[in-house]
Amino acid sequence: MEEVLLTAQHQLESAGKRLGLDSRTISVLGTPKEVLEDDIPVKMASGDTKNFNAYRVQHNDALGPFKGGIRFHPDVSLDEVKALAMWMTWKTSLLGLPFGGAKGGIIVDPHELSEAELESLSRGYVRSFSDSLGPSKDIPAPDVYTNPKVMGWMLDEYELISKCHSPATFTGKPIELGGIKIRDEATGLGGFFMADAAAKKAGLDPKSATVAVQGFGNVGFNIARLLHAHGYKIVALSDSRGAIYSEAGFNPLEVMQSKSEKGSISGFISSASGKEITNEELLELDVDILVPAALSGQILPKNAGNIRSKLIVEMANGPVHHAAEETLLKNRITIVPDILANAGGVTASYFEWAQNNYGYYWSYTDSYKRLQDIMLSAFEQTFSKSQGEGVGMRQAAYLLAVERVARAVKYRGSSKI
Ligand code: NAD
Repeated sequence: MEEVLLTAQHQLESAGKRLGLDSRTISVLGTPKEVLEDDIPVKMASGDTKNFNAYRVQHNDALGPFKGGIRFHPDVSLDEVKALAMWMTWKTSLLGLPFGGAKGGIIVDPHELSEAELESLSRGYVRSFSDSLGPSKDIPAPDVYTNPKVMGWMLDEYELISKCHSPATFTGKPIELGGIKIRDEATGLGGFFMADAAAKKAGLDPKSATVAVQGFGNVGFNIARLLHAHGYKIVALSDSRGAIYSEAGFNPLEVMQSKSEKGSISGFISSASGKEITNEELLELDVDILVPAALSGQILPKNAGNIRSKLIVEMANGPVHHAAEETLLKNRITIVPDILANAGGVTASYFEWAQNNYGYYWSYTDSYKRLQDIMLSAFEQTFSKSQGEGVGMRQAAYLLAVERVARAVKYRGSSKI
């Protein structure tokens, strides 16, 4: 079993045991309901036909239809998709959304495909799994290297097969096909609400609190932009090519402008005060809030003892390795866990699905307010569970999420467990 799935199983077992669940229940909760696999043939521009391995793992639907993204990446594996599907189950449960958890993936480097090949692959994925998809069955969304354009092709293929309009089958769609405006920034916005709430609990003053953000893509940029707009000082930012530091702080909008002109974040330093540092140094800066918003496995046993921030807000999935967590907690660092911190995206997807289902669209302000309410309510529940049980925020989030799913499974009757 791959490390990522072992981690997911370990987290479930630890929460399950603390909740007093028996081993049979823990095993049911740890087992996907369906594992769908297929080989998708694509006629390439060269004239050859190439097959791509594709997966859809439907982990648990006790609380509602399966929900989770589809990633196109060369490193996709079935174990990884299983782990990500399980995390979706806990995330939707923690946020109180009427969904279960799922994830999909295709082993492919989409950068090596032409647009026509990518469209053919996306449509092939839907043809393979269309019987199992639908607004009350399983609702995919974009994930790594998939985007609204891919969702548009997938929706069109699904509607050709089902011979009816069905926008609620996919979220993260282009606005013209039933997408909603807030979706693009929702993960960063949710992360901002979580960082700000955790900072206030820790007694930090936004006017003097310092922040380092690793990763400057959709999520990293949006959370940095919003924290800056609310007075926080963004002293460090990074992308895959390197990191920049300034004691005086950066305006993320100016850094993004420079990145789009020069191709990387480091180019900003030639026109502003500050210096280049490495991504490893960024993680170990003496800042109030550290926001890993790039990749998993960034804080490991080897560097955990060097982390000096007061808060870690996990915007990437799994940036803290489970073996590093004890050191961080011992050093009194609060971790806002990924299943809470980065749940703004799936919460906005829930809004998109709800609006598609009843064909009535809210204003941006309505979506913003509802996102804030849902995320802050989940934060307060997690924080007070953490205080009440004397455990970290991650364990508290798992206790709440696993318990809700376990109760829903139980209420469905004895045949389920
Ligand atoms: P993105 O592709 O837009 O941005 C990723 C950023 O990380 C880029 O700036 C890239 O240069 C940077 N990066 C890559 N390798 C790096 C490295 N070694 N060191 C530092 N920076 C590096 O992706 P995104 O949508 O912003 O997602 C970021 C993370 O958040 C991912 O882990 C993703 O799974 C997670 N996430 C995203 C969403 C969402 O809605 N976009 C939702 C939940 C979780």
